[in-house]
Amino acid sequence: MPISAISLTRFHQLEPGGPVPPYDQFFIEGSWVPAIGSERLEVENPATEETITTVRMGSAGDVGAAVSAARRALPGWATTTPEQRKAHLVALRDALGARQQSLAETITADLGCPIRLTTRIQAALPVQVLSDYCDLLDSHRFTETVRNSTIVHEPVGVVAAITPWNYPLYQILCKIAPALAAGCTVVLKPSEVTPLVVWQLFEAVAEAGLPPGVLNFVLGRGPEVGEALVDHPDVDMVSFTGSTAVGRHIGGLCGARVRPVALELGGKSANIILEDADLATAVKVGVANAFLNSGQTCSAWSRMLVPASRYAEAVDMAEAAASRTTVGDPTEETTRMGPVASGPQRKRVVDFIETAVAEGARLITGGTARPADLPTGHYVAPTVLADVDPESTLAQEEVFGPVLAVIPFDDDHHAVAIANNSRYGLAGGVWSADRDRALAVAGRLQAGSIDINGAAYNSRAPFGGYKQSGLGRELGVAGLEEFLQAKAIQQ
Ligand code: NAD
Repeated sequence: MPISAISLTRFHQLEPGGPVPPYDQFFIEGSWVPAIGSERLEVENPATEETITTVRMGSAGDVGAAVSAARRALPGWATTTPEQRKAHLVALRDALGARQQSLAETITADLGCPIRLTTRIQAALPVQVLSDYCDLLDSHRFTETVRNSTIVHEPVGVVAAITPWNYPLYQILCKIAPALAAGCTVVLKPSEVTPLVVWQLFEAVAEAGLPPGVLNFVLGRGPEVGEALVDHPDVDMVSFTGSTAVGRHIGGLCGARVRPVALELGGKSANIILEDADLATAVKVGVANAFLNSGQTCSAWSRMLVPASRYAEAVDMAEAAASRTTVGDPTEETTRMGPVASGPQRKRVVDFIETAVAEGARLITGGTARPADLPTGHYVAPTVLADVDPESTLAQEEVFGPVLAVIPFDDDHHAVAIANNSRYGLAGGVWSADRDRALAVAGRLQAGSIDINGAAYNSRAPFGGYKQSGLGRELGVAGLEEFLQAKAIQQ
């Protein structure tokens, strides 16, 4: 399907003087409300570099209206029963599930992520996460008795949720599903880089009939609108996913207010292939993981650690796997990698490749040149660099692009030392023919989520970072508990 044929008809820009265009409205207190902020932002399709539409940027006034609505809704929502909240989440899950195809097409147009991925991951996982919290509401004990104490797990209150652009719908649901399940009300500030899917989400919210004010959103730039939300006196908790630099700043603002904050931040995850592993499978899966969503995945295995004894073989395999990656039009079902999200993002990635080569890494495939057959769009060729010094910029900094660093190690101990030599600690992989050996290595890694031999994603397992990859956990019971506070009543 050509990109221009993607249907965004409900959201096309209307004529001047007509009704307020949908993208000039936010969803506050159960209604579509014209934005107070006046700035408009062009939303670009990164594969064609064409403007899809414009969206309105909010202001501190929009934030104030949304927080007031969430505050007014809190007493009613916080005192609903788990059964009542489940009924609302089931309605939202069904309304979202009915839109999966158009959600996938919108994310493909806005982000450049291949339609195969947006269909199977970007639009499917949010529905799965909602289902998980519907199930958890059946089993979770919000009240328990310990000796002479009744312990009540109460909602934290009004939550500010701030999300990034790389999984624009999934990151939102990882916050709003558990927050609503806990009995919190929410003001969402999604990323201004990939905003379009949010209007579709809130069409589903309106259809599901959530009580007014329980879930609201305002779009805007981070330093103005995001910060006004984080620092709003009537917000009780902030849940942020994004870069470590912005997370550190938000953490500081919350610290000053002694306000709970959950931070899901960047990563530089290591994929350790032990010398008894099935090398061909481990390299193939490892390369695919590193390039998933053009490498714009927080948990991407962007460092591949291979035994020195098998290094040359592994580098050849990585080169072959990278060269086989089908890069191109993200609306084609056969495409495995689209462009990166924006022009600035492409420049950032290319700068990292240049720095890596300047610091002594060996370029195996890819590089700074745009793929020859793709003159338009923010494409970066799948890039593999070998002989990467574990202390170098490429081994230490998150690139957020399709750039894989291959690093040799001497033994298991050395592999763990290299993997842990990072300020990040989000995810990782371990490959071995010996399960106990793999488990021993996984146990020594300083990271929040580790897959052995390419194990399947589990949406009920806690996800979050060690070290500067974040504070707190999303998904599963741990994700729900982020939005609860315990009250002990002794009698
Ligand atoms: P970013 O930090 O630039 O922006 C994230 C969000 O914060 C956006 O909505 C932005 O508008 C807002 N923001 C920016 N400055 C702000 C401020 N001063 N106050 C309040 N809000 C502000 O990150 P990004 O470029 O959108 O996303 C990429 C980053 O997100 C990567 O570092 C990636 O690793 C990380 N990420 C982490 C996870 C995880 O689960 N750990 C998941 C996805 C992405």
